[in-house]
Amino acid sequence: GYQRVLEENRKLYNQVQDLKGSIRVYCRVRPFLPGQPNSVSTVGHLDEGSISIITPLKYVKDGRKSFTFNKVFGPSATQEEVFSDTQPLIRSVLDGYNVCIFAYGQTGSGKTHTMTGPKELTQESVGVNYRALSDLFLISEQRKDTISYEKNRAVSATAMNDRSSRSHSCLMVHVQGRELTSGTTVRGCMHLIDLAGSERVDKSEVIGDRLKEAQHINKSLSALGDVIYSLAQKNSHVPYRNSKLTQLLQDSLGGQAKTLMFIHISPEPDAVGETISTLKFAERVSAVELGAARVNKDGADVKELKEQIANLKAALARKE
Ligand code: ADP
Ligand code: MG
Repeated sequence: GYQRVLEENRKLYNQVQDLKGSIRVYCRVRPFLPGQPNSVSTVGHLDEGSISIITPLKYVKDGRKSFTFNKVFGPSATQEEVFSDTQPLIRSVLDGYNVCIFAYGQTGSGKTHTMTGPKELTQESVGVNYRALSDLFLISEQRKDTISYEKNRAVSATAMNDRSSRSHSCLMVHVQGRELTSGTTVRGCMHLIDLAGSERVDKSEVIGDRLKEAQHINKSLSALGDVIYSLAQKNSHVPYRNSKLTQLLQDSLGGQAKTLMFIHISPEPDAVGETISTLKFAERVSAVELGAARVNKDGADVKELKEQIANLKAALARKE
């Protein structure tokens, strides 16, 4: 039993190493929903890592209809399948990484379904949030003999929840532990973010406060895109301050974080304009290479510096 757990952890650990230091982009296609009028999906070809869209050319000025991502989930993918490809990233929080998962897409494309689940939750239908929390609690329990997570509840979560499509909602998880052999402190933080709908605002449909609100949301999503883009360009100035969202996530989006942009698309022909714009946003994001993700360990750094000081002192002493 224990051997198997170790084995499994090692396998996951290796996968985590592969995930280091870049933005991953996953794409999920929602199935047609029961009760919807019959229509043909705009998804032409789909495999593990690519997707192509059937669309009138007016939506794709450059003619590109195929996109590649780290992972593509088709309409029949289960919640369990989705979670199992997200789990290694989530577990790295216990090793002291900052992890950020964004659900992006137009309203109705399945963001809340992926992160939380449908309205009626069952064991099969619960989303990433619940699975992540129970996984983290379980693993921190199992690791008790090497890492102590006892103080002040080492895994703690705060949720800002709202099913509205016009606000972002965020689940934040903090992990703190102490390695029993080395005495180093490990601190990890995870943000699971169900973003507001990404659809463009049609000014003829929304007026007054609703319009202001909608424009504000679009601004924060484009600010998120800008931040990720300027991290990619390795610009010295990263415009975190352009929105509340990016300000809040500054630490989690820097070069030390592991970020997953989980985009969602609807299969209906009348959504194809938004589908293309979502895929283009994601493509821009997936070009990003962040610096190597770094573990938040204070003890290790201090120990290393102390060693350096001792070495320098010894070198000085030899010279005198
Ligand atoms: P969003 O949060 O992007 O606005 P929702 O997650 O609320 O979209 O999804 C819209 C509807 O489609 C909901 O009724 C949801 O349960 C359903 N749905 C979304 N994705 C899936 C899926 N992969 N499988 C089955 N139903 C889904
Ligand atoms: Mg939603």
